[in-house]
Amino acid sequence: MKNNNLNQKKDNFTLEKLDWSTIQSEMKNKFGNDIYESWIKKIEFVNEFHDYILISVSTRFIRDWITSRYLDQILQLVRLYKKNINRIEFIVKNTESKEENILPKQHFTTNENVSFIKDSYLQYNRIDPNKKFDNFVLGFSNKLAYEASKKVSQDISHYNPLYIYGGVGMGKTHLLNAIGLSLKDKNKVMLIPAERFMYQFVRSIKLNEMVKFKEYFRNTDILLIDDIQFMNGKEAMQEEFFHTFNALLDKGSQIIVSADRPPNKLSRIQDRIKSRFSGGLVVDIQSPDYDLRYKIVQLKSEELRVFYSDQFKISEEAQRFISTEIRTNIRELTGALNRIISYSRIYNKIATLSEVKIILKDLLNLSENKVTIDLIQSIVCKFFKISKNEMLSSRRSRYLVRPRQAAIYLTKILTSKSLPEIGREFSNRDHTTIIHSVKTIERLIKEDTELSGNIDHLKNQILYNRQNEV
Ligand code: ADP
Ligand code: MG
Repeated sequence: MKNNNLNQKKDNFTLEKLDWSTIQSEMKNKFGNDIYESWIKKIEFVNEFHDYILISVSTRFIRDWITSRYLDQILQLVRLYKKNINRIEFIVKNTESKEENILPKQHFTTNENVSFIKDSYLQYNRIDPNKKFDNFVLGFSNKLAYEASKKVSQDISHYNPLYIYGGVGMGKTHLLNAIGLSLKDKNKVMLIPAERFMYQFVRSIKLNEMVKFKEYFRNTDILLIDDIQFMNGKEAMQEEFFHTFNALLDKGSQIIVSADRPPNKLSRIQDRIKSRFSGGLVVDIQSPDYDLRYKIVQLKSEELRVFYSDQFKISEEAQRFISTEIRTNIRELTGALNRIISYSRIYNKIATLSEVKIILKDLLNLSENKVTIDLIQSIVCKFFKISKNEMLSSRRSRYLVRPRQAAIYLTKILTSKSLPEIGREFSNRDHTTIIHSVKTIERLIKEDTELSGNIDHLKNQILYNRQNEV
């Protein structure tokens, strides 16, 4: 039902003004009552601009809390309605001054806190200090993009332009940021979403500031343009972009572009620009495998543990569970982790696995039940070189018992089947036998590195297989 809703709404973007009350009810659904009541309800909508919205909260603490936990997801919701919105800005209402609170809302736009609206591209350059090479976790899927980014940072214009593409939430912006961070002390760096570039372009024409615009962009040493697929400007803009691009390449400036697709699939961009993109190094970031997801969950948990001075607990089981279940992208994965952690902070307890399932319900529905018991049994049998009949038989030879227990364990952690259900699928075994198998493997994973390696391998294979099938 929810999906239908979302699909319908997707068509509405750009024309109508954003309806904040709709976003609020979406947020209530998404975050659940507790979080909504504690944090989200207090957000006030101030205004909508070309590519961002302005909201206000009462304290910096609430702003930081929301930013670190929910902002990515709020933005995703907003973007379902308005595709052109690509960030959210805050005003922190000064609670000391009662006066400010009773001003009509539009007056906020001239508030000092939002001076960035004026003169925006000079000040726009926002490099996020938290997205560094140091905390970019490496795996098979992103190694190439990481290495190319590193190389570009050490050896400017070695690969020029560098074009990084991949789906949503795969770490493209993180890498662009990391490049910007590592070069910004010694170079003029400009990191800008393509939509913002277009907006500045149009605005400069209106304000008769094209000279300033050109000068500004042509003076950068490092130009990072994020999400180039959103560039859909008119001829004149593409013309300007093309010339800026060439001018920068000619003078040896480094250009880095990110996109959600390869250059030849960009639909609204001139061929000559596309072929310029293809002329440099093109690398992609693919979906993270289990291993990478798990490493990211561990790293982020650690970062947050330091940040919150140990004020939350998350179980190993929960970490493994989300690494297994949240496969779509890394943004969603870290979002899931944040939810579990705020749960732990709010209720001052460790979330059990079933609580985790409830907290993440909306995220899990998407992917549930695609791993079948049959698939698990086949993969485990193949790995241990036994037949399915042997696995399902009641024989208790040693070479059959471990694989059987492993398959039962994997079924428990990779599907949402209950113990009796699992029992039925394994030749009507009793649920106590199922519990025993799960416990045995859980214990052995801690003691026996070979077995724990095998389990990880199998888990990956089961999830991979499935990904390939879909
Ligand atoms: P994209 O720009 O591809 O949509 P982002 O760079 O915004 O994705 O990544 C989404 C979130 O996941 C960010 O918080 C980012 O820091 C994090 N992230 C992505 N890839 C990694 C990685 N390899 N290691 C650590 N964090 C990552
Ligand atoms: Mg991005």
